[in-house]
Amino acid sequence: MSGNPGSAIRSVAAPLTTLLVALALLLIPVSPAAARSSPGERIAKALSTSPVYVDPGYADSVPPARRKQLVAQIVKTGLPIKVVLVPLVKGDTFNGDSDGLQRVVRDHLTQRNLILITTSDLAGFLSGREWPDDRHQTQDAVSAVGFLDEMKDAGLADQVSKAIELVQQGNGTRVYKDATSGLGESAHHNSSKSRTGGRASPWLVIAAGVVAVLAIAGCLLVFVRLRRRRQVSPFAFPKAVFAAAATADERALRKHADAEVIALGEAVQAASDSLPGLPRALDAYSAAGKVLDAAHGLPDLAGVLALVTDGRDALTGGTPSPLPLCFFNPLHGRAARRIDWRPLGRRDRLNVAACDTCAQAVRTRRPPEVLTAPDSKGGRSVPYFEIPAERSVWAATGYGSLVRSDEDGMAARVGRGEFSRAAGRS
Ligand SMILES: [Zn+2]
Repeated sequence: MSGNPGSAIRSVAAPLTTLLVALALLLIPVSPAAARSSPGERIAKALSTSPVYVDPGYADSVPPARRKQLVAQIVKTGLPIKVVLVPLVKGDTFNGDSDGLQRVVRDHLTQRNLILITTSDLAGFLSGREWPDDRHQTQDAVSAVGFLDEMKDAGLADQVSKAIELVQQGNGTRVYKDATSGLGESAHHNSSKSRTGGRASPWLVIAAGVVAVLAIAGCLLVFVRLRRRRQVSPFAFPKAVFAAAATADERALRKHADAEVIALGEAVQAASDSLPGLPRALDAYSAAGKVLDAAHGLPDLAGVLALVTDGRDALTGGTPSPLPLCFFNPLHGRAARRIDWRPLGRRDRLNVAACDTCAQAVRTRRPPEVLTAPDSKGGRSVPYFEIPAERSVWAATGYGSLVRSDEDGMAARVGRGEFSRAAGRS
């Protein structure tokens, strides 16, 4: 009775499948909790066949050909280097930070000697770690990449390649110090120009060291200035600003914002009266000052930076007009492109400007790393754009992304008192 060939196949296939599954269970060492493999396990498994793991979110930045080159470069070093490039998002398996990612990956690998180069939670930087000890100065070598002038516009693949090169050289600490010395030296130069006469007493060296560390950790202001001089137009915030922002270091960010407002004021003063963008720059400057004076928390400080960016753009009169800062988190810096994005629970799509990382996240249907703000009751943190527009200039404007006309813009709204009214209500 086998009129139907399908049922015949099924009747043979069913026990066969069961047998195969049973065999597979016997042959493949599956840990009890790994019925569904975790991201850490998936990465570790991929690393067993290739030393470079690239998340689909970075597939465009590191295409297969580049991946091959990186693998070849690693093989040549003869070092136990593994590269893991995954987007880090707050609340993910890795807690959104590189330490978490490295710990998880390390836990899933069996090798004793390991050099791990991964994405970092600081935009534009990579992170490195080495086991059992840091004998190749991996941490400094990999961190240095983000500070190197030659890497300023480098893509992810080039950055990784440089990191591998520096790890192989084994003098990462030296390179890191050189790459960041501009920060400390300039501050030192400003504060103690007249003190030393070439004689370096140990105390002076220590004092200089402290000054340098303070300069790096605290203000980074000189670095901002230096960078700005080097890249006059279009105006772009330096990586150091984002480093401060990413650590949610509000005090450091406030200092930056303060310095940016002052610098914009100077630029406005120095500009010619006939400059077409001058009125707009003046509005932005005055609004930035107002917001800074009453700023509570990162969203307001980000607003100061967005207004300063507006003012700068007005002064440089760039055509076509440059994109605003990243809609999802303006502390990511200037957006790279405009994208269509549908907010959760909404039918309509918004056209917003996004940085590369956020644009990629949206494209691969991941949540971008958004700037949060306390909700209207001042409790829970929510994405800033979920706050009702009448209560937040930033939600209303998307830091520039959602602005249709000048009257709609951040400076005009602050000028009309919307910012102070919203601040008074919360
Ligand atoms: Zn972004």
